[in-house]
Amino acid sequence: MDDFVKPLSEEVESIFFVEGEQNARYPYSHSILLEDYLIDTGISHKRLRKLKKLFPINHVILSHWHEDHISGNALLDGAMFYCHSRDKPVIENIRKMIPYYGVENSKVGEELKSLIELLGMKNIKVDYVTEDNQIFNIGENIKLNILHTPGHTAGHCAFYEKNSKIAFLGDIDLTKYPYYGNIDASLIEFEKSIERLNNMDIEIAITGHRDPIYGRSEINEEFEKYKSILLQRDERILSQLTERSKPIKPIDLKNKNIIYRKYTIFKEFELLAEVLMIEKHFEKLNEKKIITIKNNGYILN
Ligand SMILES: [Zn+2]
Repeated sequence: MDDFVKPLSEEVESIFFVEGEQNARYPYSHSILLEDYLIDTGISHKRLRKLKKLFPINHVILSHWHEDHISGNALLDGAMFYCHSRDKPVIENIRKMIPYYGVENSKVGEELKSLIELLGMKNIKVDYVTEDNQIFNIGENIKLNILHTPGHTAGHCAFYEKNSKIAFLGDIDLTKYPYYGNIDASLIEFEKSIERLNNMDIEIAITGHRDPIYGRSEINEEFEKYKSILLQRDERILSQLTERSKPIKPIDLKNKNIIYRKYTIFKEFELLAEVLMIEKHFEKLNEKKIITIKNNGYILN
């Protein structure tokens, strides 16, 4: 077996961790294979071709519409495709990513179009729309539970296999960079989804961009760290709202390292995404009545 495909469970032998190229750093991501079901196709074209030779893949379930999770779709065009209805429009028409990321008519939008080309991405037809709590019985031993966990995108799903207690959390990715910078994202929903997953009996957690995490307490600890990053972002935003006479808009907090503590080579994209994410914090803080709207901006309540 190739070294990027690793068995995960002794109880359920036919579940594999499929490691993404470059350890799943963007624009790649990890996948999980359960018999002939593959979740996500962003491991890289090269690895996907190898994987297809090792295993028949007849079903592809997509966790969400982001390019780093669906880039290999066209290589599996004989398979049945599944995703949540809220993410189906972008998966079937990848050009919609540009308005969904809010990057139309910008240099970043042009770069994204080039990346879509470079990754060899193509539209596919989604055969089947999944629903929250739906269970897929796969082979004799696998019961795969679909969990609609919106926030990162509107139709983002996580997956839980009941017999092995393995979960694939998609881009509730337990890294240092929680992301909700597209127009269909919601921080309020993201936090609810995190809470839902953290209350589940997970023994092995796989995410789109991290090595597997083993053990209930380790997983719980990682969830707590992830949640604290979101709260720190709240704090940084609130610390900017000092004068009640001066309402603040998300755009006023641009380029202040509120979300990204360091900007990278993707700075132009990060600046746009950051303003969108700050908007999601304002939405949350407003709902919690910590801040309030005044003159098209926000002040402390
Ligand atoms: Zn994503």
